[in-house]
Amino acid sequence: AEWIAACARDLAAHRGRSIVLAGDEQSPVVHALAHALNQALGNVGKTVNYVEPVEEFAVDQIEDLRALVRDIDAGLVEMLVIVGGNPVYNAPADLRFDIDRLSKVALRIHLSLYEDETSELCQWHIPETHYLESWGDARAFDGTATIIQPLIAPLYNGKSVHEFLAAFTDRPERSSYDIVRDHWRTQNIGGAGSDFEANWRRAVHNGVVPNTARASKTVALNANFAANIPPTTPLSGNALEIVFRPDPTIYDGRFANNGWLQELPKPLTKLTWDNALLISPATAHRLGIGVASDEEQKNRNDYTLKGKEGYTEVVEVRYKGRAVRAPAWIMPGQPDDVVTLHLGYGRWRAGRVAEQVASPATPEEQSANFQNAYAIRTSDAFWADGGVEVVKTGATYKLASTQIHFNMEDREIVREGTLEEYKQDPTLRPHRDEQKQPPDPAGENRQPLEGETLYDGFDYSENESRSSRGYKWGMVIDLSTCVGCSACVVACQSENNIPVVGKEQVARSRHMHWLRIDAYFKGLKENPEGVYFMPIPCMHCENAPCEPVCPVHATVHSAEGLNDMVYNRCIGTRYCSNNCPYKVRRFNFLLYQDWNTPSLKMLRNPEVSIRSRGVMEKCTYCVQRIEAAKIESEKEGRKVRDGEILTACQAVCPTEAIVFGDLNDWNSRVAQRAREPRTYGLLADLNTRPRTTYLASVRNPNPELESRA
Ligand code: SF4
Repeated sequence: AEWIAACARDLAAHRGRSIVLAGDEQSPVVHALAHALNQALGNVGKTVNYVEPVEEFAVDQIEDLRALVRDIDAGLVEMLVIVGGNPVYNAPADLRFDIDRLSKVALRIHLSLYEDETSELCQWHIPETHYLESWGDARAFDGTATIIQPLIAPLYNGKSVHEFLAAFTDRPERSSYDIVRDHWRTQNIGGAGSDFEANWRRAVHNGVVPNTARASKTVALNANFAANIPPTTPLSGNALEIVFRPDPTIYDGRFANNGWLQELPKPLTKLTWDNALLISPATAHRLGIGVASDEEQKNRNDYTLKGKEGYTEVVEVRYKGRAVRAPAWIMPGQPDDVVTLHLGYGRWRAGRVAEQVASPATPEEQSANFQNAYAIRTSDAFWADGGVEVVKTGATYKLASTQIHFNMEDREIVREGTLEEYKQDPTLRPHRDEQKQPPDPAGENRQPLEGETLYDGFDYSENESRSSRGYKWGMVIDLSTCVGCSACVVACQSENNIPVVGKEQVARSRHMHWLRIDAYFKGLKENPEGVYFMPIPCMHCENAPCEPVCPVHATVHSAEGLNDMVYNRCIGTRYCSNNCPYKVRRFNFLLYQDWNTPSLKMLRNPEVSIRSRGVMEKCTYCVQRIEAAKIESEKEGRKVRDGEILTACQAVCPTEAIVFGDLNDWNSRVAQRAREPRTYGLLADLNTRPRTTYLASVRNPNPELESRA
């Protein structure tokens, strides 16, 4: 109630400059309320713009599915053509598409990328082309149309949706290119009478078809809207509320066979390869779930773990006569009496990675709908509902979470503050008041002064005799804008041929990601004030502790400030990893690369070597991209321009939190950011002089709520 009152006052004070957004998964009533609030706040026409629906034929898809199921049961369906999707796995549990129902349809055809659970129950499976294998078109949220160009010819002779549907018409066979092009020929894309060929080529080149955004629309709130809102039913007794969400990495299960995404730690739990029921510390305590002994809690400071490798209790979630089993995961920040279960796990025909690597441990678990949220998700409660019961089963299950891997404890790690604090001290240093005192030269936590080092410095000036062009590469990461989405981690994995190691190896802290995103919760785990994400690549330290300990000089400082790794010198002592305070080095304990599968050879970046067993590896700042840009610039007799090199992580970051460039170039974005007062070096008190630095996180909380926290 306090939060709502403070939020309402805040919104009322910012009429016409605020926006109320309802989450995609919220009910129609909540969406209607959000629209009503925006109208009441005078936001419509200022921060909110209504347009015609993007969907060509907007229908209630659940109602459509119900009608289909009714028709199948009534024997009215002779042929069922399923275009994409996987209803046998993920249709609502009350509208199940199992063999009993599907066998009432004489002919069943399924077009999909993979032979999945639905293909298994159809007589015909048509292999679909990946969208990067065929021509297509799509619309953005505002209606703007785009033409999709293929990047590669179909690998497996698949058919696109366009080609598949065209086969049901009387017209002669056409390719998806002809179908898409012929459609846009009828749309006068450059205006009546203009040259279609030129307009088409321009649209393909620019990526958007001009003037295709939907027109703005004026809408008004129904006068008796409030009277029609159905009453909410409060939860009764000990019942819990359940929330279903798409999985942060494998989404609704369609990416379950993707090893990169299975092994990508999920932003908040840092779980890999598995699904867990998220439950708050207080609710878990009330239900007696995952409570370790006092001694264990004291030792681990984290009672979600029952052992180093993360054994957790398996619980059964009972809802409307159906049940699913999943390991319980106690999650700071999870609301009390609400459990969250992600979609996408528990598949039984999804490919080698999903079935063999990520499969549940026992047949018994498999039969209990292990981790499969779809088994209890019904059409009338798609995203949330009350009346759920969670009971312990007495079983435990091993999860592989990376949260406690590569710890950097008892130090200043995340630097953060409020806007008010930033105005008072833009450095946002911790213990800001203490640091106003003159520094104590013998003090334990004294920060080294710039240039204070036992080592000779490096010279990064332009020098013909050293073949140095005077670059000093560096990176700055803004903690204010990082949202922890982990796109950078997968981009790095793709760019640098980083292998997938599997759940067992992840549990042993052997995952190979060159970049990790650490998540930190501020405050009490029962009610954290916030969560901070910190991407950690190699810092390319100026005084790199990894370098002097290598007996074979496999890791050395380059003339441009990179901490280079020479794979064919490495003999695998791992002293460098031991000495790296940031724990960013990764060792190939086993032969993780798949050298034999032909399609995987095409997946790899030919600019980057593939490492074998016994070799240490780590972030190179995408040295192959640096070298490519240098070669181009030298051919043209100039220096590399700012922004010409984007590291893979930087290129995909949706919030542009990562900036890379030449620190010697005073005007480069990275140099400008590095000069900002809130820039700081991680573990800089060790005098490693990290080349990757961070911008402290600045939050702008509602002062009323901040003082309450
Ligand atoms: Fe070496 Fe670690 Fe520094 Fe990278 S972060 S240069 S691996 S000590």
